Amino acid sequence: MSLIDKYNRTIKYLRLSVTDRCDLRCFYCMPNGFDGYEEPEDWLNFDEIERVIASFTRLGVSSVRLTGGEPLVRKNLPELAKRLAALPGLDDLSLSTNAMQLGKHAEALYNAGISRINASLDTVDPVKFKTITQGKLDKVVEGLLAAKAAGLNPIKINMVIMKGVNDDDVEDMVDFCKEHEFTLRFIETMPMGDTGRDAVDYYIDLHEIEARLEKKYELIPAVMAGAGPARYVQVAGTDLKIGFITPISQHFCDTCNRVRMSATGTLYMCLGDEHKYELRPLLRNGISDADLDQVIRDAINLKPLKHEFNEKPEKVVRFMSMTGG
Ligand code: SAM
Ligand code: SF4
Repeated sequence: MSLIDKYNRTIKYLRLSVTDRCDLRCFYCMPNGFDGYEEPEDWLNFDEIERVIASFTRLGVSSVRLTGGEPLVRKNLPELAKRLAALPGLDDLSLSTNAMQLGKHAEALYNAGISRINASLDTVDPVKFKTITQGKLDKVVEGLLAAKAAGLNPIKINMVIMKGVNDDDVEDMVDFCKEHEFTLRFIETMPMGDTGRDAVDYYIDLHEIEARLEKKYELIPAVMAGAGPARYVQVAGTDLKIGFITPISQHFCDTCNRVRMSATGTLYMCLGDEHKYELRPLLRNGISDADLDQVIRDAINLKPLKHEFNEKPEKVVRFMSMTGG
């Protein structure tokens, strides 16, 4: 069974937001002082989430990533992870996190069946970290080390690169990731919501960063397991792999294999598009499994050919934490 969209792309990957709340405030993601969150009674409960993911796996989706907002602010996340990991056909369950609460939860998550994580970290300078996120770097480093000790592997560090904000931290991040055996991935800033659009003033084409790194290190092409669009190189003579995620300078829409679901059960077919499909009313009105499968098939056909971040940067009004970035 396969889920194939009208442009013949097979959808194998779902990014599942379990909450739109977050314990950090990265300025490019969530507005300062924002409190317009979804109400808890509108969040899908674990039974509802399990039903939707079971439907996706019946239709051929084999990778699910828990994300948010910050997924670790949702209570009992390991319990949800355990239920999802047990679904037939789900081969890969992963997590995107800001790592603030990983110190507490890493072991339980690993035991529940999460095998690998991506963690946001834009700098290892504590003062800058505070400016970007309003949080404490120590907590994040503690969380990352706990994740490594618990056996989560690989640990991929996602760094959104912004000119004049953290572009001069790249070499320190390389050293940090080399030291702790993490993979480092650079991401271009996207115009998601007003926060993302403002941050686009700091946009840098990652090819510039790659050219700069090439002057310092010998970079050789590399491959890395995972369901995403990153292109990897390895620093010769080390185990460090570096990924480049370039949605703006070199989009990868023709091979896009994913859709997203918000904490309230809205399916978003594309990060850069407002097309959506609401599953919550159907789930709460007793839809059958067969009809749910059909609805998901229909929804997939709303997936656009490509995002329009470059042509229409004003288009997406949701910020990243609302979609499940
Ligand atoms: N809270 C978790 C975290 O930070 O990893 C998961 C959700 S967060 C929305 C997922 C990813 O989206 C993070 O790596 C974050 O840096 C990225 N992100 C948020 N806003 C962005 C933007 N405007 N452009 C590019 N990446 C963005
Ligand atoms: Fe929170 Fe992640 Fe958004 Fe930062 S990027 S505000 S950690 S959801």
